[in-house]
Amino acid sequence: MRVLMNKQFTILVVGFLICLLLPLNSSFADESAIPEAEIIVDGRPQKTKYLMRSGHILVPAFFLKHTGVNVNRNQQYRSVVFSFEENLYALPINKNFSDDYLGKVKKWVRFPLVTNTVEIDGDVYVPLVDLAKKFGMIVTYNPKLRRTEITTNIRSAKSSIRRGNPERKFVALTFDDGPDPHYTPQILDILKEKNVRATFFVMGKQVENYPNIMKRIFNEGHAFGNHTWNHPSFPRVMTEQIIEEINSTQTVIDRTIGRRSDLFRPPYGAITKADALLLEKMGMRTIMWTVDTLDWSGLSGDDILSIVHRDISPGGIILQHNFEPHREDARLLDGTVEALPRIIDELRAKGYRFVTIHTLLAN
Ligand SMILES: [Zn+2]
Repeated sequence: MRVLMNKQFTILVVGFLICLLLPLNSSFADESAIPEAEIIVDGRPQKTKYLMRSGHILVPAFFLKHTGVNVNRNQQYRSVVFSFEENLYALPINKNFSDDYLGKVKKWVRFPLVTNTVEIDGDVYVPLVDLAKKFGMIVTYNPKLRRTEITTNIRSAKSSIRRGNPERKFVALTFDDGPDPHYTPQILDILKEKNVRATFFVMGKQVENYPNIMKRIFNEGHAFGNHTWNHPSFPRVMTEQIIEEINSTQTVIDRTIGRRSDLFRPPYGAITKADALLLEKMGMRTIMWTVDTLDWSGLSGDDILSIVHRDISPGGIILQHNFEPHREDARLLDGTVEALPRIIDELRAKGYRFVTIHTLLAN
């Protein structure tokens, strides 16, 4: 026992020494060792990892999306590119300068940075204050609250829609992530039997794989919206990839049923200020929800039903799923199918009328 303890202690000490010897910007650095903090952007706290280098704070490039700035990668120049309107700032990895395109004078100019842009475990960290200044943002440190605060001069997009008119007893059922061959037909059968129109937020990948089920959704009078091709989490995705996710899904829906939708639901409901502005520019309305049934976690029909009764109110949007993109073999949505006819009957008994998102928002 004692020998074992000593051995463990030796491993611990050696491990500690190795950690000290590794340079901080090494790609071997343990990601979990990078500290996290909240930075306040226009009054809203945003959690982020950060690094300190010679007294300067560095944040992951993606963090800048919370300020409204677009973030992309340029493989050719091994740089991260930040842009807003006509200005563009490219920060090459492992360099202490940026190449800036100044839209007003249509010129590229190289500017020094306080410290190098570094890459750790695939994340690129950039000097926050230098970059924020380029966009005319104000960064201050509040010593009393010990937090960094950023004031951007970038407007926010129209807010995401979380509900319809609270004066009317309408409710919208929404089903995400499909179509799929197992759950979607069962849900469509119930909706048909109950004469209810719902809204399906479909994934492009699933529409491509199951075009006939997409056609059935459309032919039976349901509404549909775009839910990306691959279901990525937007706060960690480059702007160009988001555009690709949305456009490819629009295209496959159009190819399948000859229609497009202006409704969009972000995967996990996660969206940054930059993504919201992008969606607005693309003419999409971002639809969230009022009632989260948590059905994807494998809840029973009874559990789902009690959540619906607890959280429903006039104008409500109910979030459910008809496919589980990450654990599709686990059959986690049996509760969804079980709860559905009862949700319809019991809410109708309370005086609710079931409508699509389009009807909900038009009233
Ligand atoms: Zn989803």
